[in-house]
Amino acid sequence: SNSEHKIYDCIIIGGGQAGMSVGYFFRRTKLTHLILDEQDTTGGAWLKTWDSLKLFSPATYSSLSGWQMPNTDEEYPTKNEFIKYITAYKKRYNFPVNYSTTVQQVVKENNFYKVTTNKGDFYSKTLVSATGTAKNPFIPTYLKADIFKGEQIHSVDYKNASNLKDKNVIVVGGGNSGAQILAEVSKVAKTKWVTLKKPKFLPKEIDGRYLFKQATESYVNNDTKSYTEKVSLSDIVQIKSVQEALKRGVFKDYRPFTSFYEDGVIWEDNTKEPVDVIIWCTGFRANLKHLSTLQITQNSKINTTGTKATDINGLWLVGYGNWTGFASATIYGVGKTAKQTVKEIVSHIANV
Ligand code: FAD
Repeated sequence: SNSEHKIYDCIIIGGGQAGMSVGYFFRRTKLTHLILDEQDTTGGAWLKTWDSLKLFSPATYSSLSGWQMPNTDEEYPTKNEFIKYITAYKKRYNFPVNYSTTVQQVVKENNFYKVTTNKGDFYSKTLVSATGTAKNPFIPTYLKADIFKGEQIHSVDYKNASNLKDKNVIVVGGGNSGAQILAEVSKVAKTKWVTLKKPKFLPKEIDGRYLFKQATESYVNNDTKSYTEKVSLSDIVQIKSVQEALKRGVFKDYRPFTSFYEDGVIWEDNTKEPVDVIIWCTGFRANLKHLSTLQITQNSKINTTGTKATDINGLWLVGYGNWTGFASATIYGVGKTAKQTVKEIVSHIANV
């Protein structure tokens, strides 16, 4: 019998900004809940990103639910400023987080979930998965990538350019990560920038505030299509280092090479180019490994209506990407989906 275990109303897997946002809306309920996070401190994926990272969202639009991010010296906060803020957020609301706790597997037993971790088993009536994407970096498939003798790193493992002096480096990816990393690496290395299509830089006068305001308004007006034609949250924001690199002319973009060879890449016109390092700034997929035993994952996604899983009862997914709600993988966007999630869990528990 399970009567000897404490059974939580909800366990939240992952204590990054998505898990914290869910925690925020649980405070006003009577439901027992617990957040499990495998890291030993607050900050989620932000803890591991490169040293010089600047957010592309200004402080106002880098705020978690209920407490505005304090203004920063420069318009775009540094990653350390954000980590400081989310750490203070955790303290302020005293969320129940068990750190250093890795969820290894989840099984459904009758009407509750058994959550197996390195710190033992936990039981709950409902589950929120908020494990982000950082542990599932995506690298596109290229011919003969396995015979390339140079170094390949994903942006998730990039820290700074200190080991790249005078090397031949190709940065792949036309988003904010690619642009920020290229801006830095091009100061010490010989770089080329490979993107699928012509990258879009937001005009300098369109700052992050305008971008997020546009995104939110078109969402509220149910008009996300016309918004994406004008500006998009994936366009490159001209933070200072990007402006400076634009002036140096390093943002010449090339369409992808067709294959690797031992010492480099082969371009479409068959010319070979020696390369020492490839930096893949090619994004992420949802990290859902801990849910694999539930057998409801397809192509790194789980079918949902809003955030609620449709193929199993009592599971919600928060963060990850637009498939769990518009802009839910942004700091500003996740709050709305977290609020709705907790509302649904409250009524779910009331009805079981
Ligand atoms: P995470 O921050 O990844 O948190 C998930 C947590 O779950 C982690 O602590 C992880 O250790 C833990 N976890 C994972 N698996 C397990 C497990 N099995 N058991 C226990 N714990 C587990 N958004 C903006 O709004 N503005 C920006 O400027 C911005 N810049 C970005 C820059 C970069 C380079 C990247 C990659 C993203 C950026 N984003 C930005 C997008 C987004 O805000 C971040 O990716 C954010 O970290 C996502 O938060 P999350 O809580 O969903 O996931």
